[in-house]
Amino acid sequence: MFVYCDNAATTPLCKQALEAMMPWLETGYGNASSIYKLAREAKRALEDARRTAADCLGVAAEELYFTSGGTESDNWALKGACELGGDARRHIVISAVEHHAVVNTAEYLQKKGYSLSEAPVNASGTVKPDALRSVLRPGTAIVSVISANNEIGTVQPIAELARTVKEFDKEILFHTDAVQAAGHIPLDVTPDVDMFSLSAHKFGGPKGFGALYIKSGVKLPPLLHGGGHERGRRSSTENVAGAAGLAAALEYMTGNREAFAEKAAALRDKLIGGILAAVPYCRVTGHRERRLPGTASFIFAAVEGESLVLQLDTMGVAGSSGSACASASLDPSHVLLAIGLPHEVAHGSLRLTVSHANTDKEMDHVIQSVKTAVERCRSMSPLWNAAESCPVEGFLRFYE
Ligand SMILES: *Cc1c(COP(=O)(O)O)cnc(C)c1O
Repeated sequence: MFVYCDNAATTPLCKQALEAMMPWLETGYGNASSIYKLAREAKRALEDARRTAADCLGVAAEELYFTSGGTESDNWALKGACELGGDARRHIVISAVEHHAVVNTAEYLQKKGYSLSEAPVNASGTVKPDALRSVLRPGTAIVSVISANNEIGTVQPIAELARTVKEFDKEILFHTDAVQAAGHIPLDVTPDVDMFSLSAHKFGGPKGFGALYIKSGVKLPPLLHGGGHERGRRSSTENVAGAAGLAAALEYMTGNREAFAEKAAALRDKLIGGILAAVPYCRVTGHRERRLPGTASFIFAAVEGESLVLQLDTMGVAGSSGSACASASLDPSHVLLAIGLPHEVAHGSLRLTVSHANTDKEMDHVIQSVKTAVERCRSMSPLWNAAESCPVEGFLRFYE
């Protein structure tokens, strides 16, 4: 049995997306910016895709710019906002639980001379409006807060946070990385939100394709310069197949959103209940209710997350520890540290992200596998063996 529980890292391409993409990979190869019929057909498919996607998101087609994915969209939003802010606005605010695409872009800008503040989160990983307000300044150029976290699944009160920013200073741009939210939960696209990022491969579309919503009237300068595609905002020959795939996947997800979310949440809750019951000294991370429907995230005492993931792999379960993007590093996740976990605790994290396509029977296999994998990891852990014979004050108690 192979059970894929890493949908926050990427999702399989859905049938609808594949079918929508094929014509533009086979016979419809024209350059959408050329003028003959083959090209005009590609252009029409591109604009159809833009309209379909915009309708699903509740925005205008002219406000949606196609990019190469979530990372580019996040880079564009932050770098563009700083450029737009000029000399008067040289301060950036991000939350403490951003994806690396935002964190590392903000830190890059900090090296270039911008000042950077982080809005803290509480123990559930939520940014409170007061906490955000306290780091705003008259010279803030942009505030970026993730819609739903990729490691612990906590969903932020985006409408409220965006309003807080605009009440402070309506010229500050508000951006949200909606990569984990888009296609899965309704987005809070209020007029206070100036920009949001999304990525096709997180909701059944192709990898290497995404979009940035830029509210009409926001004059974000381009990140990529060249032939003037996307109305001069984002040059590069249009990826028509990518756009068709993104739109088809988003339409499929949006059309079934409630049913899919309900199914995923039931599987997630089964996983959470089953694992908490089967494994001692284990805790759920993130907000208990305001979380993504498919995200189950845990910490286990005296277990190394990476070892756990490898053990699970031998049992046919694909999961992750922290985020896939940071898996190559041994530093504990900044998200788990931000919610107040000590380093040694943050190292024992496991993220299992399910979708509507998973089954009840698969969850039984995953629960059993996690139980076995944790037991194996602990049997090899000097910390666990010491803690069992003489409980380390405050360590095991942390998980009760
Ligand atoms: C995956 C992810 C990204 C990066 O998107 P890519 O399309 O893979 O570049 C950015 N933000 C979040 C929250 C993500 O989960």
